[in-house]
Amino acid sequence: MKQLQQWVLGLLLVTLTAVGLITLQPRATAQDTPAPVTLESAGLTLEELGEGVYGLIASVDFPPTDPGMAICNGGIVIGSDGVLVVDPFQTEALGDLLFETVATLTDLPVKYVVNTHYHADHTGGNPAAASRQLPILGRGPIREFMLSRNSESDSNITPPEVIINGSWDLWLGERQVQIREFEGHSSGTDLVVYVLDAKVLIAGDLVFQERIPFVSDGNIRDWQATMASLIVDYPAALVLPGHGPVTDVAGLERLKTYLADLVALAEGWKAAGTPQEEAIATPVPEKYSSYLFQALYPGNLEAAYNQITLGQDDAASIQQYLATQPEAVKAL
Ligand SMILES: [Zn+2]
Repeated sequence: MKQLQQWVLGLLLVTLTAVGLITLQPRATAQDTPAPVTLESAGLTLEELGEGVYGLIASVDFPPTDPGMAICNGGIVIGSDGVLVVDPFQTEALGDLLFETVATLTDLPVKYVVNTHYHADHTGGNPAAASRQLPILGRGPIREFMLSRNSESDSNITPPEVIINGSWDLWLGERQVQIREFEGHSSGTDLVVYVLDAKVLIAGDLVFQERIPFVSDGNIRDWQATMASLIVDYPAALVLPGHGPVTDVAGLERLKTYLADLVALAEGWKAAGTPQEEAIATPVPEKYSSYLFQALYPGNLEAAYNQITLGQDDAASIQQYLATQPEAVKAL
């Protein structure tokens, strides 16, 4: 009898719930339900770069008008037994979106997550990897930099647990992926990911395309040397930049030229004895006026003045200068 009572009660509850007369959970209103994060809402476009190699290409300008939009590009490499992903964007929600996107492309599990460098727009989504118990790989002082510098803007810092020093080869079943170190953008944490058989280079922020690069945390002359090396090492590669559309060796040449232009300006200031105030008021050259991230140009000029005009290009001086930058453009 008791069992029957419970059964009737249960049926009543199910019926009332189903017809909406009572709710067991408070109903969510439009106000407290965040809109689902989609590629569209994040401003991301999925692009196939080679067989089983994809880029998620961000479209937003900087600073972004909508904090839900991805600032950098992400990468997906599908091997024969697993997947490697690169740069899970700046928030956990966007990191989740990266993993959800992988699931639309393959049933294979993600095996590795790689951070191309420490900047928060590339690593803030790491908690999405940690919650899936995935190893996160990064280079050099990336842990120290994330824990000390990114914690000002992010209370849930999740640095890589696997630190790469030197060059690494990872295998996704049959597929070989090379990880190589280069200098120039982020004070010793830059690396690139190269998918050998598909000839796709995931370059991180060593390559910006159709955007003013962020140079205030880098060494401009080291970065110039890196561009020369990338052009020699990857002449036939399709290149996924850290920011901007997919390119190739012509895009590597463009960034090399951009840096050379910056250095030429700074050498001109040195020869002419131009005061800093005047130098950093130089307008964006016409050929770069269509680039996004225009707000970064004064910082480019200031970094060039410090490093080239004044010769203050040691790591300590660069970090001292970076610390003076406004939070919004401290690292990108
Ligand atoms: Zn960066």
